[in-house]
Amino acid sequence: MTCDECRDMLQDLVDNEVGPAERSALEAHMTTCVECARLHRQLSKFTTTMVKTMAPLKTNVDFAGQVLARFEESKSDLTRMPDEAAEPPAPRTWPVWPFAAIVGLCVLTGLAMLFLKKAPEPAATLSKGRELARIMTFDDRGWSEAQGTGSIYNGNRVEAVEAPGKTVELDFGAEGGAVAVLRSPCKVQIQKSSRQIELAVLQDAPGRIQIRISRGDKKALELKTLLVSYKLAKAMVPLGEAAVVDIEPGAAGELAVSVKKGSAQIFNASEKEDVAEGYARTIPQSGPSTPAIQAKSNTFDWADGK
Ligand SMILES: [Zn+2]
Repeated sequence: MTCDECRDMLQDLVDNEVGPAERSALEAHMTTCVECARLHRQLSKFTTTMVKTMAPLKTNVDFAGQVLARFEESKSDLTRMPDEAAEPPAPRTWPVWPFAAIVGLCVLTGLAMLFLKKAPEPAATLSKGRELARIMTFDDRGWSEAQGTGSIYNGNRVEAVEAPGKTVELDFGAEGGAVAVLRSPCKVQIQKSSRQIELAVLQDAPGRIQIRISRGDKKALELKTLLVSYKLAKAMVPLGEAAVVDIEPGAAGELAVSVKKGSAQIFNASEKEDVAEGYARTIPQSGPSTPAIQAKSNTFDWADGK
């Protein structure tokens, strides 16, 4: 058997696809031919590895043979390499400072954002009668009294219950010049959205509320309305015009709304209806509101302590 004949059949031998006679002849050749024996060992090892690695891909063994041939070529290239390249190229190093600078910048930016993060704007301040009311805040332990200033944030409650007949004043900020006067005992929860501030009257202390809008320039305001809600009964006062509106929750859940200046709108599940200046109407929890009657002028005096 010649070396060429032997090498043609090596893959078959490795794959166990030769007859006993051929096997004997191949083995006889390889006992005398060191090179063929070495190829056989490499091919066996290589094929085993290939089969293990690539079995799921069902790679055909011709491919393995081609890879082996290429491997043989590159191996000779490799053995020549050290002579030709006396010194291996120095591994490329990256300067450290740009990375340090970037990391430092990120840390600084993060810190700056933490400290400069805008604190939430209060929805209102308790501008008068601070000592007569409590500002309550809700967290996972329930309602508790907010400490510190008279700032009222979205979702807070104002409870004026300890001095019946006395009034406290909530100022909703300069933009609309809007103020709400609460007569104790009165509890409201403040809900502020981008267009509206709602005073939701609590049933256990509905009190009485007077809304006063002092700016009458009708300019376009970001915040459009001030809403007093007693469950389903609602009274809405636009912020664009000067107004004085008295809102008195009643025993049956109705809201009696009297307008001294400006106008208001009342509604429950119904369409909004207007209450014009000088008139009073009452909106129940459900059903139609009462017809407009003349507002009593003395209705509005309570807020001034008369
Ligand atoms: Zn040989």
